[in-house]
Amino acid sequence: MIVVTGATGNLGRLVIDGLLAARVPAGQIAAVVRDKEKAAGLAARGVELRVADYSAPETLQGVFAPGDRVLLISGSEVGQRVPQHRAVIDAAREAGVAQLAYTGILGGPDADFDLASEHKVTERMILDSGLTYTFLRNGWYHENYTEHLASVLDHGAVVGSAGEGRIASATRADYAAAAVAVLTGEGHENAAYELSGDVAWSLDEYAAEVARQSGKDIAYRNVPADQHLAILTGAGVPEPMAAILVDVDAAVGRGRLARQSGDLARLTGRPTTPLADAITEALKAAA
Ligand code: NDP
Repeated sequence: MIVVTGATGNLGRLVIDGLLAARVPAGQIAAVVRDKEKAAGLAARGVELRVADYSAPETLQGVFAPGDRVLLISGSEVGQRVPQHRAVIDAAREAGVAQLAYTGILGGPDADFDLASEHKVTERMILDSGLTYTFLRNGWYHENYTEHLASVLDHGAVVGSAGEGRIASATRADYAAAAVAVLTGEGHENAAYELSGDVAWSLDEYAAEVARQSGKDIAYRNVPADQHLAILTGAGVPEPMAAILVDVDAAVGRGRLARQSGDLARLTGRPTTPLADAITEALKAAA
């Protein structure tokens, strides 16, 4: 069986879509979900549901079986992910799964920003488990930006503190296709992939492309980190998350999310989706 955790999330749904599109029979796919109702669409397509919560280790007993190829999609509850991921890894080890693929962060052990710390510990725990692993070190999603396009259009500005730093992002669908490739293909045992877009862009260039496509006056407004934090918290982002976002922009400024290894295009066998295409889609959705 191919077992996908976080299957009701944005990435997980795309992975299941990709597995089915790659003609993996639905009966060979299991989705680990914490809310069965949210997963009704997956069950309707013949995917087996296994209910578990990363925060409740006892629910993970029996979720995996010997020989399973498992994708652990990193949790979204920042600050709680080390014990959560440990519980999943322990359950996978006890079951004797054949492969544990994990969605980490671009740069792996070299990523030096706050959001990376739980991913780094998780990779270490997986290495220590002795399981056969595949590290999918995902760079940024285009959607981290395009999902906020409505507010950019409202304010006529992209606001950040990343300076001229560049971001080699790709769509979630691109990263999902890479996950499908390592779950269905061979030769990915104990491999680490640095996954990112083929092209790196700056927030200045992002603003210019939104302006070009929307016909609106939009510019990038670079602000000092403390002002960025105040703007985010003023807009209702909780302080801990706002601090993480400002720290990410500092990492972007240091070039940490600009790395272009070509691994993503190589794994999927196609170029990554251009940022301009993601902007077009988002503008259509916002219209
Ligand atoms: P989503 O927030 O859409 O999905 C997160 C998934 O994790 C959901 O299915 C969620 O379940 C599941 N989950 C969270 N907590 C638990 C838990 N305690 N027990 C079981 N399942 C849990 O994120 P994406 O799909 O877009 O991204 C996948 C992951 O990638 C994120 O969780 C995060 O770690 C990371 N990420 C990467 C980014 C990047 O740019 N590379 C940007 C943002 C996140 P449920 O559906 O029930 O909520």
